[in-house]
Amino acid sequence: MTISLKADLHCHSIISDGTLTPEALAARAKSNGVTLWALTDHDELGGQARAATAAASIGLDYLTGVEISVTFLGQTVHIVGLGFDADNLSLWQGLQKTRGGRAQRAHDMADDLARIGILGAFEGALKYAGNHDLISRTHFARFMVETGVCKDTYEVFRKYLTEGKPGYVEHRWASLHDAITWIRQAGGVAVVAHPARYKFSTNEEFALFTEFKGHGGQGVEVVTGSHSVAESLSYANTALEFGLAASCGSDFHSPDESRTDLGVLPDLPAQLTPVWTLLPHRILHAPAIQPCR
Ligand code: AMP
Ligand code: MN
Ligand code: MN
Ligand code: MN
Repeated sequence: MTISLKADLHCHSIISDGTLTPEALAARAKSNGVTLWALTDHDELGGQARAATAAASIGLDYLTGVEISVTFLGQTVHIVGLGFDADNLSLWQGLQKTRGGRAQRAHDMADDLARIGILGAFEGALKYAGNHDLISRTHFARFMVETGVCKDTYEVFRKYLTEGKPGYVEHRWASLHDAITWIRQAGGVAVVAHPARYKFSTNEEFALFTEFKGHGGQGVEVVTGSHSVAESLSYANTALEFGLAASCGSDFHSPDESRTDLGVLPDLPAQLTPVWTLLPHRILHAPAIQPCR
């Protein structure tokens, strides 16, 4: 008997910029029919033990996960790591260094917003950050919805906090090489997250995938909450062209904000190699739950 596998390998908890706990996400994934799950908080492993324990307790298979912020050719690129050892020291130290600049950046963002009359944004955003080590633009966006500056977080990112708009502060994250190396040293697989979201030229995108592969990257998110069907097909071709495995994940952050719910995703195109087939030894299999008699 084959049991079909429904994977969601990209989402966020209160440990980064999501609004649900790891336990609530595990329960939501399970009730939406997910059978293989990964929590991928930004630059943080603080939710991994909770997520793995919660998954095991409800019969959900689990892969460790993280989404690392990288600067490549002047843009922020996100690299998802899957199936690593969450106790690995060099990964942990690399992420700690990557998180390190966030507090100063948040103060600079708040100063920039104050110049256009939006006051108290640092304290306002911090209130939403479940983890003060990881204050993010999403927390600013929530504060700006709360105070009526915008009607939703999408409007915030259209009008503020992005390149050229008030509240945007240029920031240098990890290098592509370092992020991939940390993940690999910890025994995991590196994946280019939501590739259609970047604003690279064709040549720059070619450079991204060439360097990614050259540093030992092995996967690309073909199906994600922010890809259209056409974009998924386009990155299915990229996966084949570069010999990369394919990943899928909703990038779910919040029931009130996210347009794609956990696990509510189209299947990966059949001709691709699913990323979890590279990680059979890394899947934390949940004990079978016995039906009540
Ligand atoms: P940060 O790591 O602080 O730069 O924040 C990045 C996060 O902001 C992303 O992970 C998303 O959750 C959110 N975000 C960034 N750009 C947008 C956008 N255009 N629309 C909605 N959310 C966005
Ligand atoms: Mn996010
Ligand atoms: Mn991302
Ligand atoms: Mn994400």
